[in-house]
Amino acid sequence: MTRAFFLDRDGVINADKAYVHKISDFEFVDGIFDACRAAQSRGFIIIVATNQSGIARGYYSEEDFAKLTAHMLGEFEKRGVRIADVFHCPLLDGPDRKPNPGMFLKARDRHRIDMARSVSLGDRERDIEAASRAGVVRNYLLSESAGKTAAYAVVKSPKEMEALGAFDF
Ligand SMILES: [Mg+2]
Repeated sequence: MTRAFFLDRDGVINADKAYVHKISDFEFVDGIFDACRAAQSRGFIIIVATNQSGIARGYYSEEDFAKLTAHMLGEFEKRGVRIADVFHCPLLDGPDRKPNPGMFLKARDRHRIDMARSVSLGDRERDIEAASRAGVVRNYLLSESAGKTAAYAVVKSPKEMEALGAFDF
């Protein structure tokens, strides 16, 4: 079965500047390509699951999101990283909006993912909660404050994940 490395987008792939929807505002987080390449080299597919309530709020459109996603995928590809799929929730609530696990469950079913052998990286507790509720056990929180709980380990940069053995199990 497939193993996945689940990524949140804003605050994990790109700097969170609140409702980012323009290519000119999309600034990659330092170390994100390293973490993805490390995961990929160990056979993980990479999946993005992102709340995008800015669409429901009318800040930007599905088309804006699609354009930015195409840009993001191209930049990953240039650096040798293939993103297998991108799930987004445009709504203000519902089963797909994190902390609900809907997007993770859809990914699981579409890609036949072994959730117990998968890994997630988020920058909010709700990312961890969504992944956990979908059965992901190895969850990482990108945060400046050090620490570790039963639910997740904290990293200050995605780059730390490989050294921590995040993909070696
Ligand atoms: Mg985020």
